[in-house]
Order: sequence, then C-alpha cells, then structure tokens
Amino acid sequence: MKKLDIRYLIVCSLFLLLTLPFNVMAQDGAGDAEDPYAPVTGIPEGYKLIEEDILVRINEPEGTFDNNQWSNKRVPYTFHSNVNQTNRNRAIAAMNEIEAISDTAVDFRPRNGESNYVRFVSHATSNNSQVGMKGGRQDINIVSWSSKFIIVHECLHALGFWHEQSRPDRDSFVTIHFSRVQDGKSHNFDKKSSADVYGQYDFDSVMHYGQCAFSKNSPCSSSTRTITVKSPNTSKQSAIGQRSKLSDLDKLTVTMLYPPSSWRFVNGSYSKAPPASGFSFFQLGTFFLPTKTISKGVSVVPTGGTLIIQPGTYNGNGTYNKKMTFKAPLGGVTLN
Ligand SMILES: [Zn+2]
Repeated sequence: MKKLDIRYLIVCSLFLLLTLPFNVMAQDGAGDAEDPYAPVTGIPEGYKLIEEDILVRINEPEGTFDNNQWSNKRVPYTFHSNVNQTNRNRAIAAMNEIEAISDTAVDFRPRNGESNYVRFVSHATSNNSQVGMKGGRQDINIVSWSSKFIIVHECLHALGFWHEQSRPDRDSFVTIHFSRVQDGKSHNFDKKSSADVYGQYDFDSVMHYGQCAFSKNSPCSSSTRTITVKSPNTSKQSAIGQRSKLSDLDKLTVTMLYPPSSWRFVNGSYSKAPPASGFSFFQLGTFFLPTKTISKGVSVVPTGGTLIIQPGTYNGNGTYNKKMTFKAPLGGVTLN
C-alpha cells in the first residue's frame, strides 16, 4: 500500500465537514373511551421540561451525549394507542430520514420485546424527548405531527443530541439576550459544559433554537429576539432554528455517534478521563474512546475498515500495509 501522503488525506477529507446536542409515563388510553386518539396532556410526575422540549428526571444529572447511545445502534420503537395511522406513518418517515444518512448504522425497528425502547405519544401541547437511551421505555411526545423535521429533531434528542446553542463554546458564536427572555425561562439557555461537541458551531443545525425562542415580546424582530448571531456569521441570523432539513453536520454527527462497525477513530486532542479504573482507554478506537496516534489507530482498524482522523497534528510518517480507508471528515489534519 502506498505511503500515507497528506495530499491523499486531503482528498479523503472532502468526505464532508461542518458540527454537532423523556420518559413520559402516560397512561395507555386511560379514560379515553370516547376518543381513542385523545392526546396526552401535561408533564409526568417526577419529570421537568428544560430547553423547551427536553424531558429530564427531576434531580437527575443531565447526561452528555457521550455515555448513553443506543445499544447495538438499534432503537426499538412502538406507538401509544393514541397515535393514529397517519401519524404513525409520519413518525416512520422521520425515522427513515435519519436512517437514510450516508454511512450511519442507526437502526430504528419495531419493538420486539426489547426492554429499552422509545414510544411515540400524541401530546396535546408539547413536542419533547429525553436525551439518549435512558433505559426502559422512554416517550417521544409529539403535537406537531405535520412537521417531519420537528419529529426528526425529537428523534435526535433520543439518539443523544442536545441543542446546538447549548454547546460550551456557543458564546463565541451567538449572543443570548437574557433581558428579553420570558421570566423564569432563562434556564432554557444554559450551556452544557460537560457535553461533547463535534465540528464547528452549526447555525444550520436542526437542533438550533430559533432566534426568538422564549422571547417576552412578539412579533419576532431585531429588538425582540433572544439570540443574535455574532460577526462574521450575521448572514445566518434568520437561518437559525430551521426545521426543514438535516444539516450536513447534523448528518455527519449522527454518523459519528452511530458509525458502521468497521470504523475506528483517532483523536489526538481527546482528553477525557477513562470511564473506569483499569480500563484500557484510548486503545479501543471508538468515537468516544479514540486512539491518540495514527499507528495505534491503524493497528485497531479491521482489515478493509475505515480510520476516521479527527482534526490535529499527528506523527504519521510510515508505511501502512493494511488495506483500509483513511477519512478526515472535518479536515484540519496535519501529518508529520
Ligand atoms: Zn429540542
């Protein structure tokens, strides 16, 4: 196999570039003898709603997307009896949108006895979901059935995504106008300091708030908006909050969180603590436990597999005889 050459890597890097982050105990059809499709109302006891549409258990630490992906990349799903066939088809279309992302191994499938699963519920007033796999049944509540990408947004929460403007680095890209935020709602703009991010800040993400989210005043204008995009990205001001597509970086992040089984990862700047004592961290080559060197990455990638090289500078000189593909999907890779 040819010696690894930076030009070769640059070609590989054209693969893509660009960023990134509810368990409602509804009663099955309880008391709805007249209308089997009556929506569920309210928030279940023991839970609170944060950031508009994320349901978390009260007093539960808010997880990051690094420790609660779905086992085997499979997401079993079912429907509350209050979801009619039209809306079931809409939910399936939304899941298909995610499964269709190039390379991702995410697999939504009808539940067949699995203990961990999502259940779609028709809700009277709210779209919400928990973040990541929580264990047991977790509900995805939907009121906006006619919007495919609102359902996609909630499904991405269930896959482990927080909101884009919750990134720890968001203040470099947007200004939050807390004085314009509705009383008691400022917590919706908390940053998730422990959350991982992938790629650059993504104004186009389907996981970004709209510019007037939680504003005290309407209509939405430059004087009422709660989020202002900073220079040099001000042209993105009206684009944030879109719910009409997955951005390129949304797609790439799904692929990274739920990659094909033959992919391994190198990340020279990875700095998190090992998940458990005695654990051989940085040696597995998974997205969340990447190797730190090219040579180690090459050693753990299966023959014929793919090595994803995250941005950084690496000692990459050498001859690599294993058949494999290098990809640098975010670019920003230097091999010395
Ligand atoms: Zn959301």
